Amino acid sequence: MLYECTHCGAPLDVRAPGSVVQCNYCSRSQRIASGQTGMMPTPASWRPPPFWTPPPQYYAYVPPQPLVYHAPAKAAGCAVGLVLIPVLLFTGGLAAYLLAGKTSPFEQSWDGKTTLTCNGQMKISGVRMPSKLPKAVLATEVCQLEISDSELIADTVIEAGGAAKVTIKNSTLIATDTAVVADLGSRVDLQGVTIRVGEGRPSLDGTTGLRADAGAVIDAHDLTMSFGGSGPVGTAVAVDARVAGKVSLTNATIRGPYKVRVDMLGQIDVTSSKLRAEVEGDASHVRGIEVVSPPAPPSTAASSPSTAPPPPAKQPRSAPAPKPSPTPKPAPAPTVKKINPCGCKSGDLNCSLRCNQR
Ligand SMILES: [Zn+2]
Repeated sequence: MLYECTHCGAPLDVRAPGSVVQCNYCSRSQRIASGQTGMMPTPASWRPPPFWTPPPQYYAYVPPQPLVYHAPAKAAGCAVGLVLIPVLLFTGGLAAYLLAGKTSPFEQSWDGKTTLTCNGQMKISGVRMPSKLPKAVLATEVCQLEISDSELIADTVIEAGGAAKVTIKNSTLIATDTAVVADLGSRVDLQGVTIRVGEGRPSLDGTTGLRADAGAVIDAHDLTMSFGGSGPVGTAVAVDARVAGKVSLTNATIRGPYKVRVDMLGQIDVTSSKLRAEVEGDASHVRGIEVVSPPAPPSTAASSPSTAPPPPAKQPRSAPAPKPSPTPKPAPAPTVKKINPCGCKSGDLNCSLRCNQR
């Protein structure tokens, strides 16, 4: 039967009700109840689509962008031909050790030319990605990954889920859209990491620095995060904690037009840092950030009535204000990804499938 994932709406090929399956797109596990909605017989020619664009009703669980198909870890034989997880699917450190002849069983080599998919124990250092990928690192299941002294470039740089534990040390993450996404109880530690987000984009709207979702934890020490190049348009979300996700920042510097967001018992804790930001959501779940009001429209920006006016915005000394470009271009239309325009309802897997195949 084809069954609709309850978290992202993707079609999952399952044998029978009563079984527990892990979604090949969003990695969440779920039990298939009999009489479940969204079931249909699996067509004979069925192949899982390489990407799944979740319908809007799942945005509470998954980001509004295509999810990549991950072949089931134990079914490598079936995965032949599903070329989306190339080259570096290591299932254990020892095998890689024997193949690579490295000094430690967990030292790995990675050339940075394809997405690093981690579901075992891996240790990487000194990688400079030659060009941007849609995703640099995908950490799933029992992945324990350490990356140090590297420079990673991607639309989404780090994506962790399942029980993955990822540590990044002394490295630079350059993201077009999102630097780090930790989901579903995973953990990402950042130590001495520099993050740059949104450079080259027409707008920072829709960009995210760190997002912890569904009980995941992101813990950053000595973090420097900046958004956009010169004269950016829009507002980035520097930190996003939702569904009991937690983000802790110690000694963090964040530059650029940004806000923070908390939703559904998300928690943001900041210590040893001087951050001021607009808070979207319940500000009582944000500690250590001076909360500011949303920016006023440009025409009235100069007035700040009644309450004590905030101190003038200070640029950190280490970061001179970027010069505005000499000939400012008109603000381009915001880049909104075209997302499942069919309006399929939950349970209407047929509609959703057709929509994704267009
Ligand atoms: Zn799913």
